[in-house]
Amino acid sequence: MSKYLITTANVFIPAKIRYTNISSTYLPADILNKMLKSFGEESQMIAGVDVYGKHAYRAMRHIKNKSQYITDCKKEFRQTLSKFGIEPDLYIDSDNSKMNEFVEYSIGELYKNGLLVKTQDYSFYCQDCHEDLSKSECEITTQKEGRLKKHSSIEELLQEDFVCKLCGSNNVEIRQDMQWGLLLPRTDFLKYLVEQQDTTSNIIPNIQNIYNKDFDCWTFTRNNYGRQMPIDKEKSIYLWYDSMVSKLLAVSSKPENVANDIKNVKMISYFGKNILPYYSLMMPTIFNKGFNVSKFNIKFAARGFCLTQDNDASILMQDSYTPDELSKVRLFIASRVPDKIKDYKLTEDSYKQFLNGTYKNFRKYFHRLSVFENHNYIAPQSEDYQIIKNHLREGRVNKVLSTIEQWAIDDMKAFSKENYDINAIKNRYAIISTAISAVAPSLKRENNTHKQGLINTSILEKFHDYTK
Ligand SMILES: [Zn+2]
Repeated sequence: MSKYLITTANVFIPAKIRYTNISSTYLPADILNKMLKSFGEESQMIAGVDVYGKHAYRAMRHIKNKSQYITDCKKEFRQTLSKFGIEPDLYIDSDNSKMNEFVEYSIGELYKNGLLVKTQDYSFYCQDCHEDLSKSECEITTQKEGRLKKHSSIEELLQEDFVCKLCGSNNVEIRQDMQWGLLLPRTDFLKYLVEQQDTTSNIIPNIQNIYNKDFDCWTFTRNNYGRQMPIDKEKSIYLWYDSMVSKLLAVSSKPENVANDIKNVKMISYFGKNILPYYSLMMPTIFNKGFNVSKFNIKFAARGFCLTQDNDASILMQDSYTPDELSKVRLFIASRVPDKIKDYKLTEDSYKQFLNGTYKNFRKYFHRLSVFENHNYIAPQSEDYQIIKNHLREGRVNKVLSTIEQWAIDDMKAFSKENYDINAIKNRYAIISTAISAVAPSLKRENNTHKQGLINTSILEKFHDYTK
């Protein structure tokens, strides 16, 4: 039997997750995981922290007890997730004791397969604040519209003037270096993965665009700040490599077994749109050529960025939610985050509208359906069940919610005509109950017994009229 593995992109030390991370990644992943489990599927969600990289180095350089600091950061990360009712089954951080074995194995295989090459790279150094700068921490002043990506050669880049975004100094030095690059071969394996993506998602043109042109080689080593590069002790591995490989620790206990063990895994991978080239093309390439994986089922569930202004989203940023408030906020966010790589905005106004609209509809719906209490058996063969299952398989949380909202409205209309199909509505009631308890957990009855196929949820007991 195949099992679902819901993965999320790692956050790096100091591991402060922002509201936007919760809404784009962790919350949809958590809902999907909980719904699949409620439907009797085997599913696991993983999350983790990267302890390497430039930002981790900066955060820790004046800290004496680094291992205590890392422990505290991980703890805070887990507490923040938990505050939002997000419960991963597994935490696999990049300093996991098994990571070295997996990274070394894959680097060895990639090298044997001829995919690792030495390539010339450049880095930035601020002479005034003495920081190694990332590309995003430099601003080009000579060319207003210019972006670093557009420079076809280092010679062209050297013509530009840069400003350090950290201190404002224009005393930025460009250093040239040799680094290791991972080539991106256009394999049938990769082509197949792209083709098997959800055709209703707008992710495909984005991936195809990267696949077809400007991405041939990923420079994935640095001069310091990270796990040592196994075949070159002078270099260290950039943290995204660790983060992508760490997903496989949930699949196998030995790198040699990954190719076999992953055959039964359906991976649904959540990440932000900014790291799309890495998660959609480099990660499968590492699995394919670094772990010999020839068959692999993965759905990409990338999301756009959640744009908020502090005052606008103040209600969503509160530190202490009561369980009821938390449920409302979760339900609101989940139903407003698109299943697309499109930026979106959550505002206090839209939240109020939601409480008066969708939320009220659900409440009315459950109120009317109280007669079906204890008869809410989901027939696995029911069409409604299949519709929802298909959305879940593709990682379309938002689609699940908009579908059940429409069902609730349709059912309410049917009630008023009194010519409704009781069995169809019973099935829907069960599915909607399941969805609501995944999206708004505090609305579940405390002694709720989840048995496979039989969902006994008394949501309406807790569905108070918040809209008054
Ligand atoms: Zn500076």
